[in-house]
Amino acid sequence: MKDPFSIEGKVTIVTGGGTGIGESIAHEFAKRGAPVLIASRKVENLEKVRDQIRREGGKCEMTQCDVRDSDQCDAMVATAVKHFGRLDVLINNHGASIASSSLDLRPNGWKAVVAINLDGVFFCSKAAARQFFAQKSGGSIINISSTAGIDGSSHMLPYGASKAGVINLTVSHASEWGDRGVRVNCIAPGPIDTEGAAPRVWPNPKVKEAVARSRALGRFGTVDEIAYPCIFLASDASSYMTGSLLVIDGGTSPRAME
Ligand code: NAP
Repeated sequence: MKDPFSIEGKVTIVTGGGTGIGESIAHEFAKRGAPVLIASRKVENLEKVRDQIRREGGKCEMTQCDVRDSDQCDAMVATAVKHFGRLDVLINNHGASIASSSLDLRPNGWKAVVAINLDGVFFCSKAAARQFFAQKSGGSIINISSTAGIDGSSHMLPYGASKAGVINLTVSHASEWGDRGVRVNCIAPGPIDTEGAAPRVWPNPKVKEAVARSRALGRFGTVDEIAYPCIFLASDASSYMTGSLLVIDGGTSPRAME
């Protein structure tokens, strides 16, 4: 009997797969036999991850893609199909933010963050869904939002607003595509210790300590603690889940107020 938690053979695209959480997702999927395409703007990061995965015996390809451009998102899906013959899973992990007060934030700053976080998820999802429909296979889309998309953020407003949009888009796409076998789910991570997030979210050790104390578990999350739930959402073990939001934030704690 096939293990319902298996992702072996599931062709998977990971956007932002060259760093942080996306890098971990790519490794964990490849380790379990999923052919992986990693995509983002910086080729040097993608190459490093691709080569490491290949050295470990996994199947990995890469492609440069700026998710703000819908044509590049279409090309990203076509590249996955060219290399692996099909597509089963899309993980919209890419993301960006700017720390600024509302009054200091310039229109281009607002637009850049929303274009990456929200437009990018829409363009990649649409490209993947077209492929799922053409294959008549169904598929799984996993969107990486943030707890800032639920709670807002006083210093990263376009980030919070665009990540809220990702949660809403998840429910809408789940509803629109469910009858064709496409499941769309969302993960909202809390603080995860990555180089990309550090300068904006915990700029110094004092803030880092306060953030850790605000969690019920008293610590930051690790990248693989987001990768493992992605495996579940990509696998048949979650076959009756769509439009769902998994909050993975170590729990909240009244210690933050002490
Ligand atoms: P990260 O290492 O900075 O990852 C962000 C990734 O997005 C990078 O690999 C980046 O690659 C890619 N990206 C940015 N703009 C892009 C664009 N225009 N087109 C394509 N790719 C683009 O940070 P991370 O912490 O691993 O974050 C991963 C995801 O988790 C993000 O969506 C983030 O919002 C979310 N998240 C993180 C935390 C946390 O505490 N770490 C908490 C909640 C949510 P390039 O620069 O090469 O394009």
